[in-house]
Amino acid sequence: MAYLELDSLTKAFGQTLAVDHFSLTVARGEFVSLLGPSGCGKTTTLQMIAGFEEPTGGTIRLNGRDLAGVPARERGLGIVFQTYALFPHMTVAENVSFGLEMRSIRRRERKSRIERTLDLVHLSHLSARYPRQLSGGQRQRVALARALVIEPDLLLLDEPLSNLDAKLREEMQLELRRIQQEAGVTTLLVTHDQNEAMALSDRIAVMHMGHLVQEATPFDAYENPTNAFTSNFLGKSNAIPCRVDHGALVTEGGVRLEAPAATRADGPILAALRPERIVFVEPEEAQITGTVMERIFLGDQWLFKVATPLGELLVTRRNSGHSEPDTGSTVHLAWQAEHLRVLAREAGA
Ligand code: ATP
Repeated sequence: MAYLELDSLTKAFGQTLAVDHFSLTVARGEFVSLLGPSGCGKTTTLQMIAGFEEPTGGTIRLNGRDLAGVPARERGLGIVFQTYALFPHMTVAENVSFGLEMRSIRRRERKSRIERTLDLVHLSHLSARYPRQLSGGQRQRVALARALVIEPDLLLLDEPLSNLDAKLREEMQLELRRIQQEAGVTTLLVTHDQNEAMALSDRIAVMHMGHLVQEATPFDAYENPTNAFTSNFLGKSNAIPCRVDHGALVTEGGVRLEAPAATRADGPILAALRPERIVFVEPEEAQITGTVMERIFLGDQWLFKVATPLGELLVTRRNSGHSEPDTGSTVHLAWQAEHLRVLAREAGA
């Protein structure tokens, strides 16, 4: 059953439609990410839920209650924004206590809640420190503790990890997921980082120009994108412009490719193919032959840019510790037809 329900949520800033009839439901305890590029309307959506922006249209219901006209402080939300600073003159424990004092929670109850929450975010040993004496990751944990201690009905996170360096960010992603699951709190995260959305979420809502373009589990969104935008935004993808002709795919250069079963599309399409689905094979097994234009070592894998009659294809291969074809090499490529995703060709895609 829907716990958070956004129905046709819309926000216009003058002529700009920042959020356009956006509908989404989130179940209790679920972790959902709003994923999309800068300017697609993610933050505006979150700000409307938080009560900081007034919707132009549509409704927001939380646990059956319509939030229209409910002031931000009465919505019972925990919020961690990238720029939501801690109070510098208060210790960690005092920072976490603040929200409870505002809610007139008794001293003894306060103490036990603060202890429990600091324990949850693994900061009990630093409760007497001041924010300036903490690392970036520790500060984000305090911000999280401060949001969680009030036992919010909903946790809103806006790019909470984006100020952290890459390694710490990855560690904090795992931590954030653990904390969210232990607390059992329904969570909506805003991010433009596809890896973060995939690592953390039960479901991803992909946004593009104020619209919801796909809503799926991370696995489904990656494996079965329903549109070119999602396919391209979530991970790397080769988008091969084709048309469907008598059950086969014909590229713009006239190359015929086997279509995946049940291809019913008509007219121009994009055949999307993940770089990791393309394999190097012997010449007689090749679907296409190309020349390595660029070879990039990424540690756990190699990334190749291969010039082919289909255009430039990205190919990734796991690093097996052996040498790989160098720039200028001829390579023979193959893939299985069912790994192609047939997508509508969109303007601007
Ligand atoms: P980012 O990841 O860069 O924060 P976003 O997806 O969160 O982007 P929003 O901040 O929601 O995007 O902005 C969506 C659109 O609305 C943008 O075109 C932005 O310029 C516009 N916008 C946002 N806030 C305002 C405002 N207060 N006044 C006018 N336009 C605004």
